[in-house]
Amino acid sequence: MSKLTPEESARLHPETLALSLGFDPFLSEGAVKPPVFLTSTFAFKKSEDGKKFFAWMRGEGGAPTGKHQAGLIYSRFNNPNLEIFEDRMAMWEGMRGALSFSSGMAAISTALLATHNPGDEMIVCAPLYGGTETFMRGFLTKFGIKSHFIHAGITAVEEAKKLLGPKTRSVFIETPANPNNKLTDLAAMREATAAHRTADGRSVLILVDNTVAGPVFCQPAKFGADVVIYSATKYIGGHSDVVGGVVLANDFALLKATAGLRNSLGGMPNPHTAWLLTRSLETLKIRAEAAAANAQKCAEFLVTHPKVRAVGFLGLLKPADPEYAIYRKQQTGPGSLISLFVKGGEAEAFRFLDALKVIKLAVSLGSTESLAQHPAAMTHSGLTPEAKQASGVSDDLVRISIGIENADDLIWDLRQALDQM
Ligand SMILES: *Cc1c(COP(=O)(O)O)cnc(C)c1O
Repeated sequence: MSKLTPEESARLHPETLALSLGFDPFLSEGAVKPPVFLTSTFAFKKSEDGKKFFAWMRGEGGAPTGKHQAGLIYSRFNNPNLEIFEDRMAMWEGMRGALSFSSGMAAISTALLATHNPGDEMIVCAPLYGGTETFMRGFLTKFGIKSHFIHAGITAVEEAKKLLGPKTRSVFIETPANPNNKLTDLAAMREATAAHRTADGRSVLILVDNTVAGPVFCQPAKFGADVVIYSATKYIGGHSDVVGGVVLANDFALLKATAGLRNSLGGMPNPHTAWLLTRSLETLKIRAEAAAANAQKCAEFLVTHPKVRAVGFLGLLKPADPEYAIYRKQQTGPGSLISLFVKGGEAEAFRFLDALKVIKLAVSLGSTESLAQHPAAMTHSGLTPEAKQASGVSDDLVRISIGIENADDLIWDLRQALDQM
């Protein structure tokens, strides 16, 4: 048992609690770190316990400790490694509950299916992660759930207001949007949709995929998000060695619905994945801060280079920029994703990418190592030409995710690759 009283625990910071919350060494032979609980099923002491645990899992009789589930049954429903990770994620976000998933897409698809009925409509800020857009357009529409796409950024709230109707069940937001770094004002979106109800009296849910900002620099629930979603493959895992996802909510009914559907679809992570994600949470803050500081230096170098047309990076926003106020209100740091527009087109961008020596040519983001890719030909190649134009996915755009290497080494690499371009 923890020596901390609940009051003492409440005073501690996330980076402190991330090392201990939710794990009692004396339940595991005194192990300072959680073991990997490689078991598919759990023994009940008595039949009555098994009966009670199943009732809790179905959400009957309320949750015994305020958690969404309790009583270990079977590793598709729960497992100590999943629960430790989930407790620590909920703590980071200051939210009531978290559910872990085997990937970001498992988290997104399960959360959307759990919160929408056939006939519901969504308002969706684009650009959007490609897999999410494919799921909405290609799959949810088959079940009568329609998405209306609007532009992420300063016009999003006004565009959303015009689309609110009797079927509007949700607004889905990625902020900053990827790859154009556009910010959407979460609090303003909450306010604009707060009074709205569907024809059958349900409120409008705000779902935020917070993967790009990450949990260190933005906590969307503080600005009214009902559901916060992560690809834990990115900053949370942070080492490009694991695929995972998370859904967080404050509302018990939302958590219960999402947990129930996860049980049915089976999209939970395995214990080893949850263990790796738990281990990564211990260094989340220092990784995110180191990467952001590096990205700031790299972005400041890039804007000075003659072969660069423009640089999109939150840390370069100036008070005169329309998104500056949103940035200062909503985020405590810029993250580490840089949109680099080189002078030229695809050929020049490819020459730059092929000349990089330290920064690796690969998709994904939020890792210890720096990664660069060409959205128009790679991550966003599935978009129509019109959608590419609307989202600023041009042929001269390179997306760079800065890692925690030495900043001077990264700047050296960027310079030599630009010089060769
Ligand atoms: C990577 C990513 C996803 C998908 O996550 P996976 O873990 O690859 O399934 C979803 N949203 C955003 C913003 C992402 O960057």
